[in-house]
Amino acid sequence: MGYSKQIYQRVWDILDGRKQAAREEASRHREEIHHKIPRIAELERQMAQQAARITRIVVAGSPDVEAKMQELAETNLGVQQERVALLIQHGYPRDYLTLRHVCTDCRDTGYVEQNMCPCMKALLRQEAAAQLSRVSPVGSSTFQSFSLDYYPDTPDDSGISPRVRMQDVLSTCRHWTGTFSSKSESLLLIGKTGLGKTHLSVAMAAEITLAGYGVIYTSVQRMMDMLEAEKFSRESGSKEQYRDTMVAYLDCDLLVLDDLGTEFMNQFVGATLFNILNSRLVEERPTIISTNLEPAEIEARYSQRMVSRLVCAYKVLRFAGKDIRYQKKVEGIRQS
Ligand SMILES: [Zn+2]
Repeated sequence: MGYSKQIYQRVWDILDGRKQAAREEASRHREEIHHKIPRIAELERQMAQQAARITRIVVAGSPDVEAKMQELAETNLGVQQERVALLIQHGYPRDYLTLRHVCTDCRDTGYVEQNMCPCMKALLRQEAAAQLSRVSPVGSSTFQSFSLDYYPDTPDDSGISPRVRMQDVLSTCRHWTGTFSSKSESLLLIGKTGLGKTHLSVAMAAEITLAGYGVIYTSVQRMMDMLEAEKFSRESGSKEQYRDTMVAYLDCDLLVLDDLGTEFMNQFVGATLFNILNSRLVEERPTIISTNLEPAEIEARYSQRMVSRLVCAYKVLRFAGKDIRYQKKVEGIRQS
């Protein structure tokens, strides 16, 4: 897996933090229970004393070691059962005194035997994505703050009003987010400037980030600037840097690219962009693209194969209405 040392280090720190938190929680619970249910503290003391006594017998080379071990195991089992019964009787969950790991498969070590645990792979994707993402998960662009009031409710030539169309777009975005998986369908948000494409793509990216996925939200221009600078840099380590950045764009659970079509175009940009989008389609990783360009304009600017990928493999959401940023500005002037 092509992630940098720094990203591995951060993930190890997170796992260490989780282990530490589990130990601290268990010791807090222990103190609380010993205080509230003194019988449990007494049972544990007896248990420890008996274990010490049996250890002495074993060390002394007593002939009936096996019988003593059997006795210890039985007492142990009896204590466990009484302890669980007492916990439940006092309204606590049965596992209240056991270490509770975030991931029970690897016990927050990141590995199950020799294999990397899926939880660690997810953390690597999240950390790599967070480094390249431009929005924090908390912002003002949420589903709740998306108002349909700005969209005209008079039917257009097709007989449907922009408000009804946008109602449909909004509920599609909400449903897509609510049922998101790392194999979800990709989305192409098409429409003129100021119709809420960025608002909804930020809302989706934020909710999916909060759900624990590795999400990169960026503009096409910014992604290309970064890749181009690293690709053609002569500084030492830039090759590795380029490879790590590329892996992050290719492997993140969700890549959100704002404003396709406004980036500075050259051969590197055209080829790299096609590569990233095509690889993600082949790997079935979801991408959200927003653009002011119509399919014919995408074809003219990029290529026929680019437009065929985007229009055929992506779910197209068409935004309708009048420029909302402009409407809000006019409203602001009227109110002031
Ligand atoms: Zn795990």
